[in-house]
Amino acid sequence: MARFIFITGGVVSSLGKGLASAALGALLQARGFTVRLRKLDPYLNVDPGTMSPFEHGEVFVTDDGAETDLDLGHYERFTGVAARATDSVSSGRIYSNVLEKERRGDYLGKTIQVIPHVTDEIKDFIRIGEEEVDFMLCEIGGTVGDIEGLPFFEAIRQFAQEKERGQCIFMHLTLLPWIKASGELKTKPTQHSVKELRSIGIAPDILVCRAEGPIPQKEREKLALFCNVRPEAVIAAQDLATIYEAPLAYHREGLDQAVLDAFRISPAPRPDLSRWEDVADRIHRAEGEVRVAIVGKYTDLEDAYKSIAEALTHGGMANRVRVKAEWIDAEIFEREDPAPHLERFHAILVPGGFGERGTEGKIRAAEFARTRKVPYFGICLGMQMAVIEAARHLTDVADAGSEEFDHEAGGRRFTPVVYHLREWVQGNEKVTRTPTDAKGGTMRLGAYDAHLKEGSRVAQIYGTTRIDERHRHRYEVDIRYRAALEEQGLVFSGMSPDGRLPEIVEHADHPWFIGVQFHPELKSKPFAPHPLFADFIRAAVEMSRLV
Ligand code: GLN
Repeated sequence: MARFIFITGGVVSSLGKGLASAALGALLQARGFTVRLRKLDPYLNVDPGTMSPFEHGEVFVTDDGAETDLDLGHYERFTGVAARATDSVSSGRIYSNVLEKERRGDYLGKTIQVIPHVTDEIKDFIRIGEEEVDFMLCEIGGTVGDIEGLPFFEAIRQFAQEKERGQCIFMHLTLLPWIKASGELKTKPTQHSVKELRSIGIAPDILVCRAEGPIPQKEREKLALFCNVRPEAVIAAQDLATIYEAPLAYHREGLDQAVLDAFRISPAPRPDLSRWEDVADRIHRAEGEVRVAIVGKYTDLEDAYKSIAEALTHGGMANRVRVKAEWIDAEIFEREDPAPHLERFHAILVPGGFGERGTEGKIRAAEFARTRKVPYFGICLGMQMAVIEAARHLTDVADAGSEEFDHEAGGRRFTPVVYHLREWVQGNEKVTRTPTDAKGGTMRLGAYDAHLKEGSRVAQIYGTTRIDERHRHRYEVDIRYRAALEEQGLVFSGMSPDGRLPEIVEHADHPWFIGVQFHPELKSKPFAPHPLFADFIRAAVEMSRLV
């Protein structure tokens, strides 16, 4: 039966709770334990699928087709454990479950209340799969004191109370501000935050404190005394040069030891940190640098393409080079020639996206990459744009476009080389959609198999002709254009098993031009870089030697 670690935050948001949870998961694995990480988010959206990446960062898709919080991406990148739909829940989902049960009459005429009905629903969620792992780490989004977070805090309090003694611990993440004038790290906000937590019945076992420097012994003792934790359970989280140093840094600070002590696991199994030592070594001893342009729409908020940025870093680690990724707003290329902007890069990546805005610019970026023989990686929308570019300029479909744009504009302006998929097969089931379906959770989502063409570049890169990758899209490249495009050298090298849906295209006569309908970035890890990203960066390194 799993032991539970509940991770909460206080003082301010954005302290890196997700990262701390992920790093702790990795450290427990290094000690030989199995783990699963979960995120409980207080917002009212049923899932992040309908939230703008501008506001909430990227949507992380699981194999089983859930649209989840980007913290699940951190969890996977640090532990390698594939996230599931049941690893992410929001207040919106909890309430919608409760209300559905109420409408069905499941509560037998009772008055429905936050306690016990909502809290019970949360506790049932936390318990899912508890028999499968040694440790279940549950992170609560937001900070203690937020109105909408209260049912979650109450639920984890009850949960720990109902479990046997010693089966649950609480870890609280806070900030120690540095006051320059007096040269002091201040503990008061942390004291207040713990007081808030204790007022709702939760006493933290471990304090993780973000601070600019080390925590002096005096402050450590003060925190221990006022917050009622052991001095060894006050863990400093200092700013790091890269997130992948977090497991080693937290280990040096004694986080995993403090957790095992809190559970009274003794003697503690010795950790094997070689995986993370190798990762740190690859980062610190990288030689040279390649520059990659990411031509997209959401260029203001780095979190919007979080997994892509990380996967590029992993690709760099595979080749022992640093990857400098620069975000370029695709709309610029609708007004200006892309050449002067793109010439200084060794590779171009066009990521996923929704809606028409910026697409003509992405098509121009694809054209630049194709004609100038610069490595090009098109992901989802980036693949669709590459196909439209080829259809317009290499075949006679001069007005090639996507139905996605015509839907928005109303009326038909393009020949739909990319069309709205209404019917497909998932496992043994047929799935159908109409253009007016609700927006949430209605795309082609999650892992689907693809068959790769023998001898193609992608088959070589993957080292196999059978793959599965995660999807999140509504539109598909129309195979009616396949013959004409292949005649011009755009090979359809990956297809759905039934042969109807193009999964991968590649230009045969090009050093590296690959478009994929899926999101390979979601499965890349620092200790296991995704083969497409590793090879893309290898091609960028080659390019950097040429220019
Ligand atoms: N908007 C495109 C579609 O729905 C691409 C989606 C994506 O890039 N994730 O097919």
